Amino acid sequence: ASGSPAALSISEVSKSFGGVRALDGVSVEVAPGSVHAIVGPNGSGKTTLLNVVSRMLVPDSGRVRLDETDLLSTRAERLAASGVARVFQTPKLLPEASVSDNVVLGGYARRTASVLGVVLRTPGGRREEREVRAHAHEVLVELGLGSSESSQADLLPHGRQRLLEMCRALVARPRLLILDEPAAGLAPHELSALEQLIGSIRDGGTTVLLVEHHIELVARVADTVTVLDRGRLVVTATPDEALADRRVVEAYLGV
Ligand code: ADP
Repeated sequence: ASGSPAALSISEVSKSFGGVRALDGVSVEVAPGSVHAIVGPNGSGKTTLLNVVSRMLVPDSGRVRLDETDLLSTRAERLAASGVARVFQTPKLLPEASVSDNVVLGGYARRTASVLGVVLRTPGGRREEREVRAHAHEVLVELGLGSSESSQADLLPHGRQRLLEMCRALVARPRLLILDEPAAGLAPHELSALEQLIGSIRDGGTTVLLVEHHIELVARVADTVTVLDRGRLVVTATPDEALADRRVVEAYLGV
Protein backbone atom coordinates (compact mmCIF):
# COMPACT_ATOMS: atom_id res chain seq x y z
CA ALA A 1 0.00 0.00 0.00
CA SER A 2 1.07 3.57 -0.60
CA GLY A 3 1.88 5.04 2.76
CA SER A 4 -0.03 3.67 5.68
CA PRO A 5 -3.38 1.94 6.03
CA ALA A 6 -6.26 4.35 6.52
CA ALA A 7 -8.87 4.67 9.25
CA LEU A 8 -12.43 4.66 7.94
CA SER A 9 -15.02 6.60 9.87
CA ILE A 10 -18.70 6.29 8.98
CA SER A 11 -20.90 8.57 11.08
CA GLU A 12 -24.67 8.70 11.33
CA VAL A 13 -25.28 7.63 7.75
CA SER A 14 -28.92 7.38 6.64
CA LYS A 15 -30.34 6.47 3.26
CA SER A 16 -33.96 5.86 2.29
CA PHE A 17 -35.42 4.48 -0.92
CA GLY A 18 -38.98 5.74 -1.04
CA GLY A 19 -40.42 4.56 2.25
CA VAL A 20 -37.66 2.03 2.95
CA ARG A 21 -34.97 3.11 5.43
CA ALA A 22 -32.09 1.12 4.01
CA LEU A 23 -29.69 2.76 6.51
CA ASP A 24 -30.82 4.50 9.65
CA GLY A 25 -28.11 6.52 11.43
CA VAL A 26 -25.35 3.93 11.06
CA SER A 27 -21.91 4.73 12.53
CA VAL A 28 -18.88 2.47 12.17
CA GLU A 29 -15.23 3.14 13.02
CA VAL A 30 -12.74 0.90 11.24
CA ALA A 31 -9.22 0.95 12.69
CA PRO A 32 -6.32 1.37 10.27
CA GLY A 33 -4.86 -1.96 9.20
CA SER A 34 -7.81 -4.03 10.37
CA VAL A 35 -10.31 -6.29 8.64
CA HIS A 36 -13.88 -5.18 9.36
CA ALA A 37 -16.88 -7.25 8.28
CA ILE A 38 -20.46 -6.09 7.79
CA VAL A 39 -22.99 -8.88 8.28
CA GLY A 40 -26.76 -9.12 8.62
CA PRO A 41 -29.83 -10.73 7.05
CA ASN A 42 -30.87 -9.96 3.49
CA GLY A 43 -32.17 -6.44 3.13
CA SER A 44 -30.38 -5.19 6.26
CA GLY A 45 -28.48 -2.45 4.37
CA LYS A 46 -25.05 -4.02 3.84
CA THR A 47 -24.83 -3.29 0.10
CA THR A 48 -26.22 0.20 0.60
CA LEU A 49 -23.45 0.89 3.13
CA LEU A 50 -20.72 -0.32 0.75
CA ASN A 51 -22.27 1.77 -2.01
CA VAL A 52 -22.19 4.89 0.16
CA VAL A 53 -18.53 4.35 1.13
CA SER A 54 -17.54 3.72 -2.48
CA ARG A 55 -19.48 6.81 -3.67
CA MET A 56 -21.96 4.91 -5.80
CA LEU A 57 -24.84 6.25 -3.69
CA VAL A 58 -25.24 9.61 -2.01
CA PRO A 59 -26.62 9.22 1.52
CA ASP A 60 -29.45 11.45 2.79
CA SER A 61 -27.27 12.43 5.74
CA GLY A 62 -24.11 11.47 7.57
CA ARG A 63 -20.37 11.64 7.02
CA VAL A 64 -17.72 9.27 5.72
CA ARG A 65 -14.03 9.99 6.27
CA LEU A 66 -10.87 8.18 5.27
CA ASP A 67 -8.33 9.54 7.72
CA GLU A 68 -8.78 13.30 7.27
CA THR A 69 -10.35 13.08 3.80
CA ASP A 70 -14.09 13.67 3.54
CA LEU A 71 -15.05 10.94 1.07
CA LEU A 72 -18.53 12.30 0.44
CA SER A 73 -17.15 15.52 -0.97
CA THR A 74 -14.48 13.68 -2.99
CA ARG A 75 -15.56 13.31 -6.60
CA ALA A 76 -16.44 9.67 -7.28
CA GLU A 77 -13.85 9.44 -10.06
CA ARG A 78 -11.16 10.66 -7.63
CA LEU A 79 -11.91 7.90 -5.15
CA ALA A 80 -9.17 5.58 -6.43
CA ALA A 81 -6.68 8.44 -6.20
CA SER A 82 -7.75 8.84 -2.56
CA GLY A 83 -6.69 5.23 -1.98
CA VAL A 84 -10.03 3.39 -2.12
CA ALA A 85 -10.49 0.26 -4.25
CA ARG A 86 -13.54 -1.98 -4.49
CA VAL A 87 -13.87 -5.53 -5.71
CA PHE A 88 -17.36 -6.33 -6.94
CA GLN A 89 -19.22 -9.56 -6.47
CA THR A 90 -19.44 -10.10 -10.22
CA PRO A 91 -16.09 -9.63 -11.90
CA LYS A 92 -15.89 -6.46 -13.98
CA LEU A 93 -12.95 -7.53 -16.09
CA LEU A 94 -12.10 -6.68 -19.67
CA PRO A 95 -13.16 -10.14 -20.84
CA GLU A 96 -11.07 -10.42 -23.99
CA ALA A 97 -7.94 -8.75 -22.67
CA SER A 98 -5.14 -10.79 -21.12
CA VAL A 99 -4.89 -11.39 -17.39
CA SER A 100 -1.79 -9.23 -17.34
CA ASP A 101 -3.39 -6.28 -19.19
CA ASN A 102 -6.39 -6.38 -16.87
CA VAL A 103 -4.09 -5.93 -13.89
CA VAL A 104 -1.98 -3.25 -15.59
CA LEU A 105 -5.10 -1.17 -16.15
CA GLY A 106 -5.84 -1.45 -12.43
CA GLY A 107 -2.37 -0.04 -11.79
CA TYR A 108 -3.37 3.20 -13.47
CA ALA A 109 -6.39 3.66 -11.25
CA ARG A 110 -4.46 6.05 -9.00
CA ARG A 111 -2.59 7.81 -11.77
CA THR A 112 -5.24 8.73 -14.34
CA ALA A 113 -3.26 11.71 -15.64
CA SER A 114 -0.30 9.61 -16.68
CA VAL A 115 -2.26 7.17 -18.86
CA LEU A 116 -1.99 9.97 -21.37
CA GLY A 117 1.80 9.80 -21.14
CA VAL A 118 1.68 6.12 -22.06
CA VAL A 119 -0.76 6.68 -24.91
CA LEU A 120 1.37 9.54 -26.26
CA ARG A 121 4.48 7.39 -25.78
CA THR A 122 6.43 9.98 -23.83
CA PRO A 123 9.63 8.71 -22.12
CA GLY A 124 8.03 9.25 -18.71
CA GLY A 125 4.94 7.37 -19.87
CA ARG A 126 7.03 4.41 -21.04
CA ARG A 127 8.99 4.31 -17.79
CA GLU A 128 5.76 4.40 -15.85
CA GLU A 129 4.28 1.60 -17.95
CA ARG A 130 7.35 -0.55 -17.18
CA GLU A 131 6.91 0.12 -13.46
CA VAL A 132 3.21 -0.69 -13.53
CA ARG A 133 3.85 -3.90 -15.54
CA ALA A 134 6.54 -5.00 -13.09
CA HIS A 135 4.29 -4.38 -10.13
CA ALA A 136 1.35 -6.12 -11.86
CA HIS A 137 3.60 -9.13 -12.44
CA GLU A 138 4.61 -9.20 -8.75
CA VAL A 139 1.00 -9.08 -7.59
CA LEU A 140 -0.07 -11.81 -10.05
CA VAL A 141 2.74 -14.11 -8.92
CA GLU A 142 1.93 -13.44 -5.28
CA LEU A 143 -1.71 -14.39 -5.80
CA GLY A 144 -0.81 -17.52 -7.74
CA LEU A 145 -1.81 -16.27 -11.18
CA GLY A 146 1.73 -15.93 -12.51
CA SER A 147 1.29 -18.85 -14.92
CA SER A 148 -1.91 -17.37 -16.41
CA GLU A 149 -0.57 -13.91 -17.29
CA SER A 150 -1.07 -14.26 -21.02
CA SER A 151 -4.43 -16.08 -20.81
CA GLN A 152 -7.57 -14.32 -21.93
CA ALA A 153 -9.32 -13.13 -18.73
CA ASP A 154 -12.76 -14.62 -19.39
CA LEU A 155 -11.29 -18.08 -20.03
CA LEU A 156 -10.15 -18.39 -16.41
CA PRO A 157 -12.32 -20.47 -14.06
CA HIS A 158 -14.68 -18.37 -11.90
CA GLY A 159 -12.60 -18.57 -8.71
CA ARG A 160 -9.51 -17.37 -10.56
CA GLN A 161 -11.41 -14.51 -12.18
CA ARG A 162 -12.30 -13.37 -8.68
CA LEU A 163 -8.63 -13.55 -7.72
CA LEU A 164 -7.76 -11.58 -10.83
CA GLU A 165 -10.24 -8.92 -9.81
CA MET A 166 -8.46 -8.77 -6.45
CA CYS A 167 -5.06 -8.40 -8.20
CA ARG A 168 -6.48 -5.53 -10.20
CA ALA A 169 -7.56 -3.74 -7.05
CA LEU A 170 -4.30 -4.45 -5.19
CA VAL A 171 -2.01 -3.19 -7.92
CA ALA A 172 -3.39 0.30 -7.23
CA ARG A 173 -1.93 -0.06 -3.69
CA PRO A 174 -5.20 0.90 -1.97
CA ARG A 175 -5.26 2.17 1.61
CA LEU A 176 -8.83 0.86 1.93
CA LEU A 177 -10.01 -2.23 0.05
CA ILE A 178 -13.75 -2.91 -0.14
CA LEU A 179 -14.77 -6.51 -0.81
CA ASP A 180 -18.33 -7.44 -1.70
CA GLU A 181 -18.98 -11.08 -0.72
CA PRO A 182 -15.55 -12.36 -1.68
CA ALA A 183 -16.46 -15.95 -0.75
CA ALA A 184 -19.54 -16.13 -2.99
CA GLY A 185 -19.22 -18.88 -5.58
CA LEU A 186 -15.81 -20.07 -4.38
CA ALA A 187 -15.10 -23.77 -3.96
CA PRO A 188 -14.31 -24.97 -0.41
CA HIS A 189 -10.59 -25.35 -1.22
CA GLU A 190 -10.52 -21.74 -2.47
CA LEU A 191 -11.89 -20.43 0.83
CA SER A 192 -8.75 -21.09 2.83
CA ALA A 193 -6.69 -19.36 0.12
CA LEU A 194 -9.07 -16.38 0.32
CA GLU A 195 -8.71 -16.32 4.08
CA GLN A 196 -4.91 -16.20 3.81
CA LEU A 197 -5.09 -13.61 1.08
CA ILE A 198 -7.26 -11.25 3.13
CA GLY A 199 -4.86 -11.66 6.06
CA SER A 200 -1.86 -10.86 3.90
CA ILE A 201 -3.59 -7.83 2.34
CA ARG A 202 -4.15 -6.48 5.83
CA ASP A 203 -0.59 -7.30 6.88
CA GLY A 204 0.62 -5.48 3.76
CA GLY A 205 -0.85 -2.25 5.10
CA THR A 206 -4.37 -2.08 3.67
CA THR A 207 -7.52 -1.63 5.73
CA VAL A 208 -10.22 -4.07 4.57
CA LEU A 209 -14.00 -3.55 4.69
CA LEU A 210 -16.03 -6.52 3.57
CA VAL A 211 -19.60 -7.72 3.32
CA GLU A 212 -19.76 -11.49 3.69
CA HIS A 213 -22.49 -14.06 4.25
CA HIS A 214 -20.06 -16.84 5.03
CA ILE A 215 -20.01 -16.46 8.81
CA GLU A 216 -17.24 -19.00 9.45
CA LEU A 217 -14.99 -17.03 7.10
CA VAL A 218 -15.90 -13.80 8.90
CA ALA A 219 -15.11 -15.39 12.25
CA ARG A 220 -11.68 -16.37 10.95
CA VAL A 221 -10.60 -13.25 9.05
CA ALA A 222 -12.34 -10.29 10.66
CA ASP A 223 -10.87 -8.30 13.54
CA THR A 224 -14.21 -6.59 14.11
CA VAL A 225 -17.77 -7.11 12.88
CA THR A 226 -20.76 -4.82 12.54
CA VAL A 227 -24.16 -6.50 12.51
CA LEU A 228 -26.96 -4.67 10.73
CA ASP A 229 -30.68 -5.43 10.89
CA ARG A 230 -33.28 -3.53 8.86
CA GLY A 231 -30.96 -0.59 8.34
CA ARG A 232 -29.97 -0.27 11.99
CA LEU A 233 -26.73 -1.12 13.68
CA VAL A 234 -27.22 -4.00 16.13
CA VAL A 235 -23.67 -4.26 17.47
CA THR A 236 -20.02 -3.74 16.56
CA ALA A 237 -17.70 -6.17 18.32
CA THR A 238 -15.15 -8.92 17.78
CA PRO A 239 -16.60 -11.85 15.77
CA ASP A 240 -16.78 -14.04 18.91
CA GLU A 241 -18.60 -11.39 20.92
CA ALA A 242 -20.93 -10.45 18.06
CA LEU A 243 -21.95 -14.02 17.30
CA ALA A 244 -22.62 -14.72 20.97
CA ASP A 245 -24.87 -11.64 21.25
CA ARG A 246 -28.54 -12.46 21.81
CA ARG A 247 -29.63 -9.50 19.64
CA VAL A 248 -27.59 -10.90 16.75
CA VAL A 249 -29.21 -14.30 17.02
CA GLU A 250 -32.59 -12.55 17.05
CA ALA A 251 -31.73 -10.43 14.01
CA TYR A 252 -30.70 -13.51 12.05
CA LEU A 253 -33.53 -15.75 13.15
CA GLY A 254 -36.14 -13.02 13.32
CA VAL A 255 -37.38 -14.26 16.72
P1 ADP B 1 -28.41 -6.15 1.92
O1 ADP B 1 -27.20 -5.86 1.09
O2 ADP B 1 -28.13 -6.25 3.38
O3 ADP B 1 -29.16 -7.35 1.43
P2 ADP B 1 -29.46 -3.72 0.74
O4 ADP B 1 -28.55 -2.64 1.17
O5 ADP B 1 -29.30 -4.26 -0.64
O6 ADP B 1 -29.41 -4.92 1.81
O7 ADP B 1 -30.96 -3.22 0.88
C1 ADP B 1 -31.49 -2.59 2.05
C2 ADP B 1 -32.94 -2.21 1.79
O8 ADP B 1 -32.98 -1.17 0.83
C3 ADP B 1 -33.78 -3.34 1.23
O9 ADP B 1 -35.07 -3.22 1.76
C4 ADP B 1 -33.78 -3.07 -0.25
O10 ADP B 1 -34.95 -3.57 -0.86
C5 ADP B 1 -33.74 -1.55 -0.30
N1 ADP B 1 -33.03 -1.05 -1.50
C6 ADP B 1 -31.71 -1.19 -1.76
N2 ADP B 1 -31.38 -0.59 -2.92
C7 ADP B 1 -32.53 -0.05 -3.41
C8 ADP B 1 -32.86 0.71 -4.59
N3 ADP B 1 -31.92 1.05 -5.48
N4 ADP B 1 -34.14 1.08 -4.76
C9 ADP B 1 -35.08 0.75 -3.85
N5 ADP B 1 -34.85 0.05 -2.73
C10 ADP B 1 -33.59 -0.36 -2.50
